Amino acid sequence: MSNLIFNFNSIKTKKLKYPKNILGGKGANLAEMGRLGYPVPSGFTISTKVCELFYQNKKNLNNKIKKNINIEIKKIENEIGKKFGDLQNPLLLSVRSGARVSMPGMMDTILNLGLNDQTVKALANITKNKRFAYDSYRRFIQMYSNVVLNIENYKFEELIENYKLTKGVLLDTDLDENDWEGLIRDFKNVVNLEKKMEFPQDVNVQLIGAISAVFLSWESNRAKTYRKINHIPSDWGTAVNVQSMVFGNMGKNCATGVVFSRDPANGNKEIYGEYLINAQGEDVVAGTRTPQYITKKSRKKSKLNELSLEETMPKIFRQLKKILFSLEKYYKDMQDVEFTVENNKLWILQTRSGKRTAKSAIKIAVDMVNEKLISKKDALLRIDPNSLDNLLHPSLDEKSSFEVLAQGLPASPGAASGKVVFSSEEAERLNSIMQDSILVRIETSPEDINGMHAAKAILTSRGGMTSHAAVVARGMGRPCVSGSSEIEIDYEKKIFKIKNKSIKEGETITIDGSTGRVIFGEVKTIKPEISGDFLKVMKWADKFRKLKIRTNSETPNDTKTAREFGAEGIGLCRTEHMFFDEDRILSVREMILSKSKADRDKALSKLLPYQKNDFIKIFTIMKGLPVTVRLLDPPLHEFLPKSKEEILSVSKSLNLTSEEVEQRIQELHEQNPMLGHRGCRLAISFPEIYEMQCRAIFEALVNCKKNKVNSILPEIMIPLVSTEAEIKIMKDLVIKIAKQVESESKIKLKFLVGTMIELPRAALKAKDIAKHAEFFSFGTNDLTQTTFGISRDDSAKFLNDYIENKIFDIDPFVSIDDGVGSLIEIASEKGRKQNNKIKLGICGEHGGDPKSISFCSKTGLHYVSCSPYRVPVARLAAAQAEIKK
Ligand code: ADP
Ligand code: MG
Ligand code: MG
Repeated sequence: MSNLIFNFNSIKTKKLKYPKNILGGKGANLAEMGRLGYPVPSGFTISTKVCELFYQNKKNLNNKIKKNINIEIKKIENEIGKKFGDLQNPLLLSVRSGARVSMPGMMDTILNLGLNDQTVKALANITKNKRFAYDSYRRFIQMYSNVVLNIENYKFEELIENYKLTKGVLLDTDLDENDWEGLIRDFKNVVNLEKKMEFPQDVNVQLIGAISAVFLSWESNRAKTYRKINHIPSDWGTAVNVQSMVFGNMGKNCATGVVFSRDPANGNKEIYGEYLINAQGEDVVAGTRTPQYITKKSRKKSKLNELSLEETMPKIFRQLKKILFSLEKYYKDMQDVEFTVENNKLWILQTRSGKRTAKSAIKIAVDMVNEKLISKKDALLRIDPNSLDNLLHPSLDEKSSFEVLAQGLPASPGAASGKVVFSSEEAERLNSIMQDSILVRIETSPEDINGMHAAKAILTSRGGMTSHAAVVARGMGRPCVSGSSEIEIDYEKKIFKIKNKSIKEGETITIDGSTGRVIFGEVKTIKPEISGDFLKVMKWADKFRKLKIRTNSETPNDTKTAREFGAEGIGLCRTEHMFFDEDRILSVREMILSKSKADRDKALSKLLPYQKNDFIKIFTIMKGLPVTVRLLDPPLHEFLPKSKEEILSVSKSLNLTSEEVEQRIQELHEQNPMLGHRGCRLAISFPEIYEMQCRAIFEALVNCKKNKVNSILPEIMIPLVSTEAEIKIMKDLVIKIAKQVESESKIKLKFLVGTMIELPRAALKAKDIAKHAEFFSFGTNDLTQTTFGISRDDSAKFLNDYIENKIFDIDPFVSIDDGVGSLIEIASEKGRKQNNKIKLGICGEHGGDPKSISFCSKTGLHYVSCSPYRVPVARLAAAQAEIKK
């Protein structure tokens, strides 16, 4: 039959014929588990191809596909002896989305489809369980109305909450069949009121509606946001899985849960998970009821009274454990499994590689190598380089004193301080003005995804370790404390209460996601170090990679950190950053504002000792490794005085009037400073600036040599070159100063002179430029700006529209664009042709981006340079690039 729809049983070949890009992750694994003989409810997958057809066909399923869906439904009916829409023994279905990679909480699932006013009676009859039947029906109406009819869920939840209040009960499970029957009437009224329609009673209409809604959810705002954050291409589409229902909500012998084959928080080889008796679907992760643990051990550790699955259903527990371990062995990775128990029978509903913290990713990878389950190469490929970022962030300084307000679950590790906010909008607002926030919510939902991203950390008062907040925070690398049940949140008053304290919006708290602590005020943090399994993985990575990893650094502190993290040199030392220091900025301003060369020389001679000292410190720390020093680059006006006092103070020391200074500032004003008088263009006009900087470098070198700090190789880098003549003039300048310092000190100096390639002309004329350059460093920030003609500082305004319209997949300032990449390839090739020893590297933000690193590795560059905290990320990414070659 068509290759658009696949029965879970139709894929019998050993090697998966239809991969995840067609079946989606969930569908592929369901089929695979069926093939391996695990208890999976029967069903079929409608492929991602159909998603594409659906959108081509004006968001409609065509008749051929509808016919094939009916054929597949018949197959399920025959297999399990129930009939869709039947008045005796109705078949109920779940309609589940499934993209190529798991997108937790992003896509929509509909359960109990096939219920209507008639079939619900049949279900009650045949199961002799009216409560169950009506509970299922109301769930179905809620989900269907929400997902397909776009009625906000709170309209239903509100009715339930009010009803419980009048009845005087706390939990949904306290409501009986009559309660649900009444609520169902109210629910249908809501549909009537909101949509001016009856809730659909035709089961086939329900089915097509649900399948279409899953396809539509691929383009929902929250799915789009998730894709953007996680760089998932928008043209992948989703598959839809249609599956017969199994019921965890039929009574005490029923349950539903989630379980991991290893602990996703710390990587320990212990199964970890949560479940609820008499529950369905999202109950466990929704945070409305606090779930119970799977194992006795974790139940005891948390001092919870509610029994674990191991204790309530020991036979099921043993079976589940066995399945879990064999799935792990089969997929050779930690598994995250969703299961349901219907009348003491276990069903597996999903398996996938479990999301995990960076710490556990490392531990699991190293353990699996020791267990001989995977190779070192596999282990390195398993760890997401970006996730290492988490381990490289500070943790709480336990020695400082602080006041712990509350204790919750350690849902996602790391520590962060920020202002309390109660809404995603406020988190986004603070983020846009560079302020740190902690998002405090009773529980989070997919609508909060933007706010969770904007906040530094997340705190919830409800929900477990697998709640929405916990899963999404772990994925994003945000610290999270969930289920901190002692705190009482009042959204309206914008406060939360704990014991007898109340914390207002805007007050600072600290979250420690590694231990679950909620702390008042800001807490001192300490720098992380690379040790244990992390160190082991880094050493493996170093063995496989060929790219060198350098760092962008200009302060002794950063330089030290970078070296500790494994940097193999400095790829970019921005000398202008040294100018902003309080005690030098005045001299910098004097230099810029002075009208005569004599005044300028005077100011420069005041700056010389400062720069020289900076270089001595940095060279000493980077002893034995190359240091690329970039001469002054930004437009001069960046350093100019702005306030009245600043202007006054400069005019005094320059013996000028304020008016004269202000006039000079006027003169320096530029329309397009990024394309203006900057980089080597400054030194063409005022060579004395670069002369001073070179002298500082060489005198520092002499000083180091005298103090027996040897093997330092400065690489002097000229910015913003576009022509051969520019680099030639600059190189002559550098050599002239070197000769002067050599003759003064009687010490022979070793150094390289090279250039940044950050203008398209320079890339295209690289062969000529290479006549005078011993190295090229691709300044990919500026190269991206100048290739596109897009200013990075202004691009935020329209970047979203560009991503939305699929013009850009990813922000080109984050990951190297292939047009910019072509220029890099051209320049590298031309550079090598002229000088086969030419050193090639990149500096700029892209140097710490794994995708860009992979590009650099393919292009045969020698090194990438990134910020100190990205160095370990780059080491791993470079190894992965090499392994994947
Ligand atoms: P997600 O991608 O968000 O995990 P799923 O498709 O896995 O969504 O569905 C969510 C939950 O719904 C599952 O964890 C499971 O508890 C429940 N569910 C899905 N399909 C079935 C089914 N056939 N029978 C019973 N419960 C189901
Ligand atoms: Mg879900
Ligand atoms: Mg699931």
